[in-house]
Amino acid sequence: MRRANAALAELSSPCPFAAFGTAIVNHTAGGLGELVCIGINSNSLHGDPTLHGEIAAIQNCSKVLTDPAGPYKLSPGDAISAFKQLSLYTNAESCPMCASAVRWAGFREYIYGTSIKALIDNGWGQISISSKEIFRQSSALSSNTSFIPGILTNETNPLFFWQFDVNATCPTGCSRNLDYNVLGGKLNRGMSVIDSVEILLGRSLTDAEYGKAAVLGWCIELFQAFCLVSDDVMDKCHVRRTQPCWYRLPHVRLIAVNDACMLRSAIFHLLKKCFRQETYYVDVLELFHDVSFNTDMGQLVDLITASEDTVDLSKFSLERHRKIVVFKTAYYSFYLPVALAMRFTGILDSDPATAIRPYRVALSILIPLGEYFQVQDDWLDYAGTVEQIGKVGTDIIDNKCSWCINTALALANPEQRAILDANYGGKGRGQEWKVKKVFEEVGIAEEYAKYEDDAFRRITGLIEIIPEVTKVGELKREVFVTFLQKIHKRLM
Ligand SMILES: [Zn+2]
Repeated sequence: MRRANAALAELSSPCPFAAFGTAIVNHTAGGLGELVCIGINSNSLHGDPTLHGEIAAIQNCSKVLTDPAGPYKLSPGDAISAFKQLSLYTNAESCPMCASAVRWAGFREYIYGTSIKALIDNGWGQISISSKEIFRQSSALSSNTSFIPGILTNETNPLFFWQFDVNATCPTGCSRNLDYNVLGGKLNRGMSVIDSVEILLGRSLTDAEYGKAAVLGWCIELFQAFCLVSDDVMDKCHVRRTQPCWYRLPHVRLIAVNDACMLRSAIFHLLKKCFRQETYYVDVLELFHDVSFNTDMGQLVDLITASEDTVDLSKFSLERHRKIVVFKTAYYSFYLPVALAMRFTGILDSDPATAIRPYRVALSILIPLGEYFQVQDDWLDYAGTVEQIGKVGTDIIDNKCSWCINTALALANPEQRAILDANYGGKGRGQEWKVKKVFEEVGIAEEYAKYEDDAFRRITGLIEIIPEVTKVGELKREVFVTFLQKIHKRLM
C-alpha cells in the first residue's frame, strides 16, 4: 500500500490533487512480493477520463509483461493469464469502472485503503457503488479475486481529506511549492541579512536573534522564488536550478501564477507573525512593498525591451540595461538585505550625531554594487566556462538585454551592427557564433576590464564617505566592504 502512495511522488508530486495511486505486485515470488508496475490517476495528464490509477497501472502492466526487451517477455495471451497471479493495491477503493476492470483482469487479490464512503464524506464526487457490490455481481466470471478492504487507512486517508476542507492544515502541495521553488538556490540574499546583522552588532548572534534575522532572510528568498516562478512563466523558460520550471510540471501549469502570488503573500504572513510587536514593523513592511514595486517595474521594462519572439535591437541601450538591472535586480538583491539588517539593528532614518541619512547612503552604494554584480553576470554568461558558471550561457540566443550586447551596440560600426541585427536572438546554426565574433572585434574583453576597474574604484570611493564608527545603531563601512569583496573579480 505504501508503494501505491509512493507512486504519486514518483509519477507526479507527493501531494497531487487527485492522489489516487496503484501498485501491482506479484506475491507468488514470496516475501513482500515483486513490484510489477505502478500507476496514478492520469486523467488531466493525458486528457483521458478513464485513466484512473488502477486503469493506468493495468495498462502499464500489460506493457511491462509483453515488452520483448523487458523481464517477462510474455505473449499477449500469457500476459492475460499472468494477471491471475498478481495483486492490485490501490490507496482508495476502486470506482465501479475500475473494480470491474479488476474483476475482468482476474487479479488474485484486490487491496484498498480509503473507502468510497470516506471519499464521499470528505467532498469527493464518486459513484456510490462499492467494489464489494461489483464483486458480488461478478460471480459469473471464471476467476476469483480476494477482497481485502481498509488497509493502512491511517496513511491513505490524509491524502484525500484536505482537498475540500477549507480548514485543513497546509496541504502538502503548498509546502511542495515551497520546497521546489524556495530551496535549491545559493541563498546569498538571505544569508546577507544575517551577515550584515552580525557586522552591525559587532558580535555573533544569540539563537533568538539569529532566528529572527533568518526569518527576514527567508522572506527575501520567498520574494526571489516569487520572481523566478512568475518570470519563468512570462519568459517561457524550460529549466531552473537544474530542474524543470515549476509551471512546466503537468500538475502545475498555470496554477504556477497563483503559487507565485502565494510565495509573495507568505512574506507578509511571516512578517506579521514574527515582527508585529517591533517598532520597525511598518518600516520593514514598507521596505518589502517599495522593493516589490521597483522589481515589478524592472520586470516590465525588461519584458517590453527584450521579448523572446521579436528581436528589436533598436530598443536596447546601456541606459535601458541599467534601468532593468537596477529595478529588476539591485533593489531586492542588494539593498533589501542590508536595509532589513539595518532596521533589525535599530538604525534610524537619520543620525542626529553625524547628520548622515544611513538608508540613503546604503542605497547610494548598494545600487551601483548590484549593477556591477549584474554586469559581471552578463559577462560570465558570455565569457565564462561551464565549469565556472555551471551552465552554458544563453543570453545571446535568448535575446537578453545584457551588458555585452549593449556595449557592442555602442561600439559597433555599421557592418558589425548589421551582423548583430541579423543574428542576435537567433536560434539558427552559427548565429550565436557570428554575434560572439562581433563582440570580440569591438574589444569587449578590454571594455569589461575597464568597467570592472572603474566600478570597483567608484564603489570604494562611495564606501569611504561613511565615517568609521563602532557603536551599535550606526552604519558601518564593513557591511559594504564585505559585499564588495565577495563580488570583486568573482569568476562564478
Ligand atoms: Zn476508477
